[in-house]
Amino acid sequence: MPKTPEDVIRDEVRALKAYPVPDATGMVKLDAMENPYPLPPELRGRIARLVEQAALNRYPDPSAPALKERLRRVFGVPDGVELLLGNGSDELIQTLALAIRKPGAAVLGVEPSFVMFRMIATAAGAPYVGVDLRDDYSLDIEKLLGAVEQHRPGLIFIAYPNNPTGNLFDAGLIERVIEAAPGLVVIDEAYHGFAGQSFLPRLAAYPNLLVMRTLSKLGLAGIRLGVLMGAERWIRQLDKLRLPYNVNTLTQLIAAVVLEYGSVLTDQAAAIKLERGRLLGELRRVPRVTAYPSDANFILFRVSEAERIFDGLKRRGVLIKSLHGSHRLLADCLRVTVGTPDENTAFLTALTQTLNA
Ligand SMILES: *Cc1c(COP(=O)(O)O)cnc(C)c1O
Repeated sequence: MPKTPEDVIRDEVRALKAYPVPDATGMVKLDAMENPYPLPPELRGRIARLVEQAALNRYPDPSAPALKERLRRVFGVPDGVELLLGNGSDELIQTLALAIRKPGAAVLGVEPSFVMFRMIATAAGAPYVGVDLRDDYSLDIEKLLGAVEQHRPGLIFIAYPNNPTGNLFDAGLIERVIEAAPGLVVIDEAYHGFAGQSFLPRLAAYPNLLVMRTLSKLGLAGIRLGVLMGAERWIRQLDKLRLPYNVNTLTQLIAAVVLEYGSVLTDQAAAIKLERGRLLGELRRVPRVTAYPSDANFILFRVSEAERIFDGLKRRGVLIKSLHGSHRLLADCLRVTVGTPDENTAFLTALTQTLNA
């Protein structure tokens, strides 16, 4: 008898839904928090020459010292803090979930938040505990501390700013969670470039704290580079689970040269922040729309018929993200990535047309 997936694949894996990536060909693409701006032509020329000369027949340098040095400088990593690089921060989340798993050790996160925390924990075989935010998307500290006490999680993920709600949680409340946690707390700063706030300076004060960043939302989503930062005694253990050549040669070359190239990514982030302000202002003038403030490069907003609005936008060539149905606190919510001024205007026009249709 040939074996079926039911015989072979773990129940919790078969129960997962694949992370959906819709086809965006020809669309105004505002669904995935990408930076809409290309790199300057001169920098692209430099990248082309580096790629031309790259030793693609060789394995990449597994420790990537040049790239780590630049990341240290650009991120302002405090002395004594070690770095672990990942093929995107998604891979680092996976490494963490695989590492901490003792029989029964839970992974804890808030809800709604980044869906990969739950997906990856589940795939790694760790029970996932989700603690609801308050209705205003702030941390429910009593509930959170209660869950920490009850489940004693080995790993807690907090996105700062949070995705998909866009807000920064109160730093003092996060500190209380770190102090109460019996295991590691990972502050996921994927949107740091648009927020300015960071837990990096607190690494020295909290021995169980790790801070994670990514270049994806800053403009390099295509090369996949995530960075986990923390005390050497944690990083050394996690490094054993990292696949030896997880950050490929081209990613290492390109990230290093782009980070070295003046302030191109931070200038683009500044332009995105300006547009975020305009987009929020305009959204708030649209009747029947509630738009939430954001410290990230996207805006969460609520309408009265999310599915109709999402479909109407799509038919008008604008792809955003519908969160309706994913969590009680996201009923009728949609999320739009901040694009170029033209893209944002196209979105606003399509939104008004759809609302009035
Ligand atoms: C987008 C996102 C990531 C994933 O980043 P990659 O480095 O592209 O894997 C991680 N965390 C949060 C909160 C995100 O929104």
